[in-house]
Amino acid sequence: MDQRTDQKSLTSLNVGSTVLSNRYVMGSMHTGLEDDLRNIEALKEYFVTRAKGQVGMIITGGYSPNIWGRLTPFAGTFSNSRIAKAHAQITQAVHAASPTKILLQLLHAGRYSYHPFSMAPSRLKSPITPFTPFAMPVWMIKKTISDFIKAAGHAKDAGYDGVEVMGSEGYLLHQFFAEKTNIRKDEWGGTLANRARFSLEIVSGIRKKMGPDFLIVFRVPIIDLLPDGSEWSDVVWYAKKLEEAGVSILNSGIGWHESRVPTIASVVPEAAFSSITADLRKNLKVPVIASNRFSHPDSAEKAIREGKADLISMARPFLADPEFVQKTLQSKVNEINPCIACNQACLDHIFSNKKASCLVNPLAAEEKKWALLKTEKVTLEKKIAVVGGGAAGMNAALVLLQRGHSVTVFEQKESTGGQFILAALIPGKADYGRSIKYWQNQLTILGGQLVLKKKVITLDELSGFDHVVIATGVKPRQPKIEGIELPHVYFYDDFLNKGIQPKQKIVIIGAGGIGVDIACYVTGKNSHKDSSAKEFFKHWNIDPKVRGGLIADKKYISHSKITLLQRSEGGLGKGLGKTTGWIHRLELKKQGVKFINNLDYHRITSDSVEVRLKSGEFKKIEADQVIICAGQESVMELVPMLVAAGKPFSVIGGAKLAGELDAKRAIREAYELIFSI
Ligand code: NAP
Ligand code: SF4
Repeated sequence: MDQRTDQKSLTSLNVGSTVLSNRYVMGSMHTGLEDDLRNIEALKEYFVTRAKGQVGMIITGGYSPNIWGRLTPFAGTFSNSRIAKAHAQITQAVHAASPTKILLQLLHAGRYSYHPFSMAPSRLKSPITPFTPFAMPVWMIKKTISDFIKAAGHAKDAGYDGVEVMGSEGYLLHQFFAEKTNIRKDEWGGTLANRARFSLEIVSGIRKKMGPDFLIVFRVPIIDLLPDGSEWSDVVWYAKKLEEAGVSILNSGIGWHESRVPTIASVVPEAAFSSITADLRKNLKVPVIASNRFSHPDSAEKAIREGKADLISMARPFLADPEFVQKTLQSKVNEINPCIACNQACLDHIFSNKKASCLVNPLAAEEKKWALLKTEKVTLEKKIAVVGGGAAGMNAALVLLQRGHSVTVFEQKESTGGQFILAALIPGKADYGRSIKYWQNQLTILGGQLVLKKKVITLDELSGFDHVVIATGVKPRQPKIEGIELPHVYFYDDFLNKGIQPKQKIVIIGAGGIGVDIACYVTGKNSHKDSSAKEFFKHWNIDPKVRGGLIADKKYISHSKITLLQRSEGGLGKGLGKTTGWIHRLELKKQGVKFINNLDYHRITSDSVEVRLKSGEFKKIEADQVIICAGQESVMELVPMLVAAGKPFSVIGGAKLAGELDAKRAIREAYELIFSI
């Protein structure tokens, strides 16, 4: 296979005596496998799969150097030789698989620790954890520095090529460096030099003990995204001091976990923060990594070619496709399974104490479970009809083709994609369109048949098939509300598909995931947002050259009056993702969108929606347009016919359970077909 040689991002980089085979870094991403040594085999498979995909450098999930720095009470530490010995099998397997280098991340959570023994420079509680940390006495500061150095030694013994020291995102080292979290009066607080001392002693201590060949990456906080954060000149000073102390590479840390600005969600444009990395790089000699929201080889190549960074870090795209780099090397970029930045199966899982995986690639961090897909082909090929070309149907077709069956997909619309077509129209969700293209392309490559504009109605149409997969999805629920048939009332799918121009006064019936998406669509349309980094910075008040990188919150002028309605008591968008829901809620608040709950619908009139609040009050809300987002119902008309005929079939996705219309479950169910067909 020809390998690409025209791409700078695919060229090697010498860092001291170490050669990185290309400029791609799989950034640190906790999977939950780190926390229990019984998962070491699974963790090994996870990393080896990515190493075989030719990524230049892997950074593991974060390990605390001691028990106080653990993120959760039972999280992993890297504090003894037993752990080092267990990890040796990971590093040996990775090194045997490819030239990929693998580094262990050392992360002390400080006041972000989710347990009552958390430690921080000062006794100041974070807004996102329930525990107030103990202020570290000097002996504990010195012990923690020593624990970091010892942990780096264990990492070296385990065969890691180096460590990444997590110095950003609001964790302990960042807490020492920031004035807002470090109000100490001793030599570890106060002046800039005092606040930097903790990190600098850790880095110089590791360098001294580990010698010149051991890689030390330091994640430096290049922008805080907090009003009382660091000055840019302090960041540059800090980075230079870290360089002097012995770091090999500086990585770009963006924001604190408590920042109320999105940093990796889908609303963040591609490579949005790379200009800040570029400004830092001008001041340094060591290589610099750009991070956050790189998901396409073109943007990685552009940043490297323009000299903005020496290396590009991405984490989630390697969950979605472990062969990201290999496919780029082989000029097969359109065969990369794109990460859609949904966070639903990765970060949302981690923040709910579940193991991470990936919505578009259920194999991620579960490689062993799905080994069947990569190894044996079926001996008895079946002819399979997949009815419905949405996320469930297309993924079913792809895995069944990979298993060796012959597959025909029937889709009643003009193109495949199902609910992803609608999602791709929502501001900040354009990446869903990349998934649709990927599925279509893979179907062709794997030799599947596609019949578009074909609604399967009769059994005869399925007569030549051994098995039928029903993936017919959902249709919007039609609530029984007087006036729903009026011409200014739209179902959300029609409103999006037909490109209806939003008017001024809009009432949205239903405030779940889709109601919130529609509200974002309408406000996005009205405020003419686009997705350039410049517009994103403007929209979120980001200015890297002011203190903390944020300018004072500006007042928004809302061009429309939007009201979201919900019958039940719960809050707005209660079912939204743990790590992304706040962004939608904040966005709607900024745009002046109203939310009324705890009500019954009375009727829709030509210019209003009338509701009765549970308090008994009657309310008339003016409306030029009404959009119905009241959930969905399954479409599974073919099922009774198949049952009656005794024909083998499976039902997956929304057709199986509309109540929780959910692409993560739909795609997983599609993959699970390999165990039953
Ligand atoms: P949903 O989240 O279940 O919300 C349905 C909404 O319709 C609720 O507000 C519900 O509230 C209302 N409703 C239900 N039956 C009704 C009826 N008969 N009359 C009037 N209102 C009714 O469903 P969805 O919005 O269609 O979203 C589907 C799935 O996709 C969800 O799992 C959602 O989380 C997910 N999704 C997520 C996102 C995201 O995370 N950004 C975006 C899109 C979709 P009441 O019953 O209280 O009125
Ligand atoms: Fe990307 Fe979503 Fe997969 Fe996470 S779950 S890696 S955000 S596609």
